[in-house]
Amino acid sequence: MSPAQSSTPTKIARRGLMLVLSSPSGAGKSTIAGNLLRDDHSLEISVSVTTRAKRPSEIAGKHYHFITVPQFERMRDSGDLLEWAEVHGNFYGTPREPVESAMAEGRDMLFDIDWQGALQLQDKMKADIVSIFVLPPTMTELQSRLHRRAEDSEEVIRTRLLNSRAEIERWREYDYVIVNDDLDEAFRNVSCIVNAERVRRDRRYGLFDFVNGLLTEEPNL
Ligand code: 5GP
Repeated sequence: MSPAQSSTPTKIARRGLMLVLSSPSGAGKSTIAGNLLRDDHSLEISVSVTTRAKRPSEIAGKHYHFITVPQFERMRDSGDLLEWAEVHGNFYGTPREPVESAMAEGRDMLFDIDWQGALQLQDKMKADIVSIFVLPPTMTELQSRLHRRAEDSEEVIRTRLLNSRAEIERWREYDYVIVNDDLDEAFRNVSCIVNAERVRRDRRYGLFDFVNGLLTEEPNL
């Protein structure tokens, strides 16, 4: 049966993509990431390690691996982290092993990391990275979202707001920039980016064989 007649969708092997989402705290990045993971089962989240305290709504092992500073330093110094950064006074890092396995198997991974981590990944794995920066519609809205979330102390919210300007200035380092004034639309845009990036020619190493197969089919004239 030719690919065109087949009833199952044609699978063409491709490299996995590394989707990096960054934004200042409160711009809606984690909600967009959560929606993506809910709807797109071929996307897997990279669970970071962090030395920050767990928020009441968070689940250890799902949102983060919560570790101590000495544990973090051990992982960092023995090369177990693909990237790491200090953000708002805490350490965060991406465990290397799950990412390398996913990439070797052509699976797609989602990274909710800051601009420092995004730059490190871009340096190491340029061809596989798709980076998206999420901006708030206004600074006032960013502030009220941080308060509405009600998971952090006033002091933590203040630090995050003060740091948000320096983070926003990094927008130029990303492939795509999305303004999140409407969550559904922002999410639709991110989904479209992921789908488009999956069919990029240079990501699909199975195309060569697929096209050769097409061209060896005898025309039925
Ligand atoms: P939060 O404390 O709100 O969960 O995260 C604070 C910031 O740290 C966010 O911008 C988040 O994207 C970033 N972050 C989370 N995990 C990592 C990581 O593994 N590496 C880096 N570089 N940043 C991270």
